[in-house]
Amino acid sequence: MLWITRLLVLLLWLVLTFGQLGVPAQPPIASTGPVRPHAHLSSRAGECRSRATVPGVELASDSCSFMGHARVPGQKLTIMVTSHKVADFDDLLQSYNVSHRILNHNFQALIDANYREVAPEGTPPDQFDWKRYFQLDSIYAWLEFLAQQRPEVVTLVDLGASTQGLPIRGVRIAFGGENLTSVFVESGIHAREWIAPATATYFIEQLLNSKDAAVQTLARSQNWVIFPTVNPDGYRYTFKGDRMWRKNRSLFGICRGVDLNRNFPFHWNATGASGDPCRYDYSGPSAGSEVETQRIVQFLENRIQSERIRTFISLHSYSQLIMFPYGHTPERVENYQDLKEIGQLAAQQIKKQSGRIYRSGSIYETIYPSSGGSKDWVHGHLKVPITFTYELRGPPDSEDLFILSAGEIESTASEAFAALQTIVEEAGKRGYYQ
Ligand SMILES: [Zn+2]
Repeated sequence: MLWITRLLVLLLWLVLTFGQLGVPAQPPIASTGPVRPHAHLSSRAGECRSRATVPGVELASDSCSFMGHARVPGQKLTIMVTSHKVADFDDLLQSYNVSHRILNHNFQALIDANYREVAPEGTPPDQFDWKRYFQLDSIYAWLEFLAQQRPEVVTLVDLGASTQGLPIRGVRIAFGGENLTSVFVESGIHAREWIAPATATYFIEQLLNSKDAAVQTLARSQNWVIFPTVNPDGYRYTFKGDRMWRKNRSLFGICRGVDLNRNFPFHWNATGASGDPCRYDYSGPSAGSEVETQRIVQFLENRIQSERIRTFISLHSYSQLIMFPYGHTPERVENYQDLKEIGQLAAQQIKKQSGRIYRSGSIYETIYPSSGGSKDWVHGHLKVPITFTYELRGPPDSEDLFILSAGEIESTASEAFAALQTIVEEAGKRGYYQ
């Protein structure tokens, strides 16, 4: 098992209230000496101490992985710290009286347990299920299998190759109705959000095989274009390298990866994105710089009219949100009221089905400002009216972050599908598909 070869890492989770950074208990240690290439990392750790702000730690440290950025005083922030830095980091927090709580002393144990829930490579496609997580090859083999089994309904769609030469593969599901509109589902743009590809494949399964009459009607009311893993390099890397990897795998000096959901050419890099390739939300060297972004952009631009794409859904985790544009501005989209109501109905449907609480609202209102996301480009540039981004399970305060037990795949995907059904039915009632 490949992942066993990974280093065992002890990780700490801390909630910081960085507004409470006070006067240091003792004078900060100044960073000394010239920065030579081979000394780069150690001198950065020194800088960490001397700057003594949480934003400073984020900029300076190679050993603290931030979930979100320190933006406003009093904000809660989750930070993952690698084992060899735990003592040093703890000392830093004590020195500056930063209030914090350890969420998990050994996050690696959670990761290891999650890897044990992955179906073995080479699992035959007829054994595909929603009780385990599947690697890229298995997902692609399953899509091919569906296209072979149901050629009259399922067509493989290839967007082209990723940065590292992997196919970006999805399916088009069309039962043959005349003059239908289409729903486009983008999933897996963030590699570590494993529940997203699992949910996208569940959507495919339901649309093809559900015995429920309402779902069969839904499936035939639209054509469906579904891409479970639009970031195949990143997704593959979460199985072979770093479970917590988010971006694609483009190389920039000593760091890798562009956050593809900050790379779309619409108000690119305006807010909530980083210009540093070493950060988790690096927006890329230019708008639409990444191959994966270009593939999606070209496909949608080419097909928007011919496929009559009126609905765009992107799948992420976690936080249990159903969000609509925009992310870069508090300014409201022209059909804000409809999207707000439809989102709330979708959230109510989930509550009815599973009891889970999902919040709905614009991205800017519900999660945090961000720019260069696919849904903003799709709505703002392509004018696709019904555009939603899901943040699937777990809850916003989940201490497991992006690690969701495989036991929750089916219920998560099922409630997400119920919400999708609500979205499409409601949008239909409001005349969006005429
Ligand atoms: Zn995401």
